[in-house]
Amino acid sequence: MKYISTRGQAPELTFEEAMLTGLARDGGLYVPAEIPVMSADDIAALGGLSYEETAFRVMRPYIGDTFADDEFREIIARAYDGFDHAARAPLVQLAPNHFLLELFHGPTLAFKDFAMQLIGQLFEAALKRRGDRVTIVGATSGDTGSAAIDAFRGLEAVDVFILYPHGRVSEVQRRQMTTPQDSNVHALAMDGDFDDCQARVKDMFNDFEFRDGVKLAGVNSINWARVLAQVVYYFSSAVSLGAPYRKISFTVPTGNFGDVFAGYIAKQMGLPIDRLVVATNQNDILHRCLNGEGYFKGQTIPSISPSMDIQVSSNFERALFYAYDRDGAAVSQLMDELKSGGFNVSQGAMQALRETFDSGCTSEAETLATIRTTLATGAELICPHTAVGVHIAEQARDASVPMVTLATAHPAKFPAAVEEASGVHPPLPPRMSDLYERSERVTRIANDLAVIEDHIKGHIAT
Ligand SMILES: *Cc1c(COP(=O)(O)O)cnc(C)c1O
Repeated sequence: MKYISTRGQAPELTFEEAMLTGLARDGGLYVPAEIPVMSADDIAALGGLSYEETAFRVMRPYIGDTFADDEFREIIARAYDGFDHAARAPLVQLAPNHFLLELFHGPTLAFKDFAMQLIGQLFEAALKRRGDRVTIVGATSGDTGSAAIDAFRGLEAVDVFILYPHGRVSEVQRRQMTTPQDSNVHALAMDGDFDDCQARVKDMFNDFEFRDGVKLAGVNSINWARVLAQVVYYFSSAVSLGAPYRKISFTVPTGNFGDVFAGYIAKQMGLPIDRLVVATNQNDILHRCLNGEGYFKGQTIPSISPSMDIQVSSNFERALFYAYDRDGAAVSQLMDELKSGGFNVSQGAMQALRETFDSGCTSEAETLATIRTTLATGAELICPHTAVGVHIAEQARDASVPMVTLATAHPAKFPAAVEEASGVHPPLPPRMSDLYERSERVTRIANDLAVIEDHIKGHIAT
């Protein structure tokens, strides 16, 4: 299996190389040269399997000869061992034909753990074999950073630096990043918003001297291995609800478009997905774009669903690549236009996107109201991101097709909004009940590339 860049200019890589590299050298994102297809029989055979075995069968065609079957099975087993729930990604029913896919039973209480715990084990196995080490740099609006720090803490071949927007993550998110004491993980509170953090990470990748000097690797949602890990729960949940014999729709609370893009891949692999509904908060660039209004950056407005406070949605580039019939030059052109504000999507590409994606946006008031009503009518306490999804799913729903809304975080990760909406304070799971007493380790840093690069050079183990 070879991987190609969405901008068509970077060298083709193997799975291992694409995983360790993250962003392609032409600024693009890696995608598989061919998307493997599972037959209806292959999909039916997933029925009743463990999450781990489902993960093995869905991901195996993508990893080529990077890992032998036994080793890959062990990596998957270690990745999901720390989850609280035996099903890993359990489904609960919310209303007639509307289900929640609970993706928050991992160590840091958000769906990011599915990809990050796997990627931690994949990196460790690959780097150990090469006798190599890397520096991982990531930007986070909260959940990616905590998931990465938990997944990589204590590993020998990796230093991790996470940039988060100072003052714009929840206290639980911040503490999950700042309380691990392992010397190879570093939380950096940057002045600016999430888009600034993401832009500085991109700058570091485009500074080839720095990139090669510290052996930079990325685990943001642009990393193909993360998208791949997220494809699995579309299969496990759809099969539980009757696939391949029945179509299923999904509503996905969306920021960087990684999670919902994994659904797109699942559909291309043959999973009978009817609609993929992109749910945004008031930062609605994706909704506007899918609505035909072009992809134009606005100002990021802080919300009660901060992990979706994004204007530039990195993984949308992958969707555009397919919508433009894998034309790297066209994607490159669009990304150039984006630098000066935005672009319009061609008619053909809009049509291609609309074959799969619907969208909606949810206001802050609607989010709070949805938390309240979901507790009252479905007996589920949901986080604000999940509420954005549930609100849109209820509107977008075709009653004849089961709808699965992805519950992307545990309500206890966003206690202030949940309590404001419902009057109920969501307790942390027992294993992290002392989170508020642990001491914090964090560096406040300026939104300045040179300052950040110097800090990293000064803090990596050599
Ligand atoms: C990251 C995140 C999202 C958005 O996911 P993307 O893959 O960036 O679209 C939604 N909800 C929560 C809780 C998250 O952590």
